[in-house]
Amino acid sequence: MRRSKFFMPTMKENPAEAQIPSHCLMLRAGMVRQTAAGIYSWLPLGYRVLKKIEQIVREEMDATGAQEILMPTIQPAELWRESGRYDDYGKEMLRITDRHERGLLYGPTHEEIVTDIFRNSVKSYRDLPQNLYQIHWKFRDEVRPRFGVMRGREFFMKDNYSFDIDKDSARRSYNKMFVSYLRCFARMGLTPIPMQADSGAIGGDMSHEFIVLADTGESAVYCDPTWLYTDPLSLEIDFDDDLQPIVDRWTELYAATDDKYDADNCPIDESRLYTGRGIEVGHIFYFGTKYSTAMGATVSDGQGRDVAVEMGSYGIGVSRLAGAIIEASHDDNGIVWPESVAPFKVGLINLRSGDGPCDAVCENIYASLNNAGVETLYDERDERAGVKFAEMDLIGLPWQVAVGPRGVKAGTVEIGRRGAAREEVSSESALARLA
Ligand code: ATP
Ligand code: MG
Repeated sequence: MRRSKFFMPTMKENPAEAQIPSHCLMLRAGMVRQTAAGIYSWLPLGYRVLKKIEQIVREEMDATGAQEILMPTIQPAELWRESGRYDDYGKEMLRITDRHERGLLYGPTHEEIVTDIFRNSVKSYRDLPQNLYQIHWKFRDEVRPRFGVMRGREFFMKDNYSFDIDKDSARRSYNKMFVSYLRCFARMGLTPIPMQADSGAIGGDMSHEFIVLADTGESAVYCDPTWLYTDPLSLEIDFDDDLQPIVDRWTELYAATDDKYDADNCPIDESRLYTGRGIEVGHIFYFGTKYSTAMGATVSDGQGRDVAVEMGSYGIGVSRLAGAIIEASHDDNGIVWPESVAPFKVGLINLRSGDGPCDAVCENIYASLNNAGVETLYDERDERAGVKFAEMDLIGLPWQVAVGPRGVKAGTVEIGRRGAAREEVSSESALARLA
């Protein structure tokens, strides 16, 4: 992509409304624009990141055997009356009336819709287990939308729903999600910490919030430092295996947020305890037959009985993650993208646009990177070098390649990682390193 053609309305000053780094940087880098309170438009740079995050989540969900579907954002109030949640949900639900005076709502979550699909389609234990997911917009009329995309009203979420014949099978479904969440967040360069969460009326241990570490996070985190050194991606995972030992290994480690932490009863010695901050990016939850009983989602159990199906739901805040990754990875000059979610891999800077030899070397590098499938943003504008470097630092692409007249004469270009010193190497070796 040529910078002169790329729609990226950057800002020099810090916007007054931004209270946290990710909100400020996303606005300054031209990733998003606020359309209404808590409602954002994603511009090309931001949308590239959102799609990368979405794709990692999709790949990890598919690896567990879950299947992707797409449900409507607008839902009939009738289904929520059946589950009993229509009146309970409160003011976070955006209620709509259509021209025929029928009650509709913009979905804050999709248990009712998916349970309705299930009960109309699945009748036998033989068709279980099932796990369906979508990656789609939700609307919750939050009292205080804030921190940009971190707490929006309209936001992008991955939500799965599992259906099992009994509790043992439901635990296996839950464990698959637990392990795949660890992998998802680790692939985004984050350190995920599962925290046992309240599981509502059902009780039990099958509800976890996934917190990722970031100094500016909303919750205080206390944990066993082993978390910080255990890379979920180093585990060989086969989703057909029994994953309980892996889940046990992770849940044995101590972790708590500020509301649960009790210094007197903490199992970790104070000298070893890691204290930091974190952001909730996911939540997995087993809720048994709550919706299947209320909505009549039953299957035959093979022994002549009809039983309510056991369900769980599993959410990941896909749009919140764009902000959370920035909170976890930025410096004074801007964003520092992990390569897996970066909007482009390389920022190519022409330090003397209009100079024949500089232009020729840049065009050659740009074409070679494009041919090799390396996503590159080429800044060929007639701007000062300082402006170009500052913008590349702001938008945080993992690699910077700078081409200037002095280097071109000597047969070299400068290459470096975002935030690190650049080295002078030949164009060929720069290309070899990037492709
Ligand atoms: P919170 O406690 O932050 O309000 P929640 O418990 O309401 O979250 P869930 O219903 O479990 O959230 O939703 C799953 C995920 O969706 C959350 O872990 C979070 O990452 C994301 N999420 C929830 N609410 C918002 C929001 N208003 N804006 C952006 N992402 C959100
Ligand atoms: Mg909430």
